[in-house]
Amino acid sequence: MTVFDNTAFDDHELVTFARDPESGLSAILALHNTSRGPALGGCRMWPYASTHAAVTDALRLARGMTYKAAISGLSFGGGKSVIIGDPASEKTPELLQAMGRAVDALGGRYTVAEDVGIGVDDVAQMARATDRVAGMPVGDSDGDPSPATAYGVYQGIRAAVRHSLGRTDLGDLRIGVQGAGAVGDKLCAYLAAEGAHVLVADIDSELANAVAAKHGAHTCPAEDILAADVDVLAPCALGGIIDDVSLPRIRARIIAGAANNQLAADHHGPALRDRGILYAPDYVVNAGGVIHISHEGPDYDRTQAFAHVGRIYDTLMDIFERAGRTGEPTAVAADRLAEAAFTHPNPHPFRAAR
Ligand code: NAD
Repeated sequence: MTVFDNTAFDDHELVTFARDPESGLSAILALHNTSRGPALGGCRMWPYASTHAAVTDALRLARGMTYKAAISGLSFGGGKSVIIGDPASEKTPELLQAMGRAVDALGGRYTVAEDVGIGVDDVAQMARATDRVAGMPVGDSDGDPSPATAYGVYQGIRAAVRHSLGRTDLGDLRIGVQGAGAVGDKLCAYLAAEGAHVLVADIDSELANAVAAKHGAHTCPAEDILAADVDVLAPCALGGIIDDVSLPRIRARIIAGAANNQLAADHHGPALRDRGILYAPDYVVNAGGVIHISHEGPDYDRTQAFAHVGRIYDTLMDIFERAGRTGEPTAVAADRLAEAAFTHPNPHPFRAAR
């Protein structure tokens, strides 16, 4: 099967494969659409079961970045990169620098940042080979996008609770958080501070225990969190978790979390609506990190950056109201808004970066 036959291929402008035998790098870099500006998107490192799975992930994630930047009003295009490998055992400075060279070879059309398996220190290694990096310490910002992402998810949950339950606070609501990583941990802090009953799960049960202890939360086995008896489910692990098997088991009335591409297929948007579950479209809820990156620079002001992230609340309320008026699934209403904000196909996909 070629890239063009991949069901996740959506006329992406560019897909490149990078190989560096010396460091062991095998990576895929995907640029979806740069009509709003050069592509920005994190680099994920994951032990994909196949090259096909890695290509599919890169294509879907890059497309999601186009929609995320567009709906957030940012002057970025959508791109993403994936490194095939286990970040725990295969990540070396040499491999990361080789990845930096692969990013640099795109001549400014793509800027790389953190994602699952790649942290601030890893991006700093890539920065030795390219200046096309974001999410780095500059001025008063430490470069870590996860606090802003968590804040955006918290605001997204507040908006969904307001719309669905008519409540302006989260006190005593039961909220399940899937994934106790960088975002999940910080999200638990916001939720616990508002008096929510937080249930957290991670495939790394020690991490889940540590995060739960820190925030006065409870834990459950990772395989039970999607079906947990909660009001809100916040997926903060990996994508594709809402599928034909998990969907009928979900008991939450709201889904709002950080993970990219939460719906395994398009038909899961209407299926959630039909079950009366309010779905906060992932790329809207989790835009805090990229919004924060748009504020990075010598004039960085944390208060301003977080106020901008907080506007995720208003964007979501708009989407929920539109979907309520038209009867469309929220995912479709969000796509319409985003698509109106970028040109597809990009009329000048191969213009030189400015
Ligand atoms: P992370 O790698 O720090 O944490 C992810 C956690 O999920 C890990 O602890 C992992 O063990 C756990 N996990 C994986 N599969 C699981 C499963 N089936 N059940 C329970 N736990 C599982 O990543 P992160 O930075 O916290 O990001 C979380 C998600 O949010 C990712 O999908 C990422 O793409 C997305 N996201 C992150 C940011 C950001 O700023 N970090 C921004 C936008 C989107």
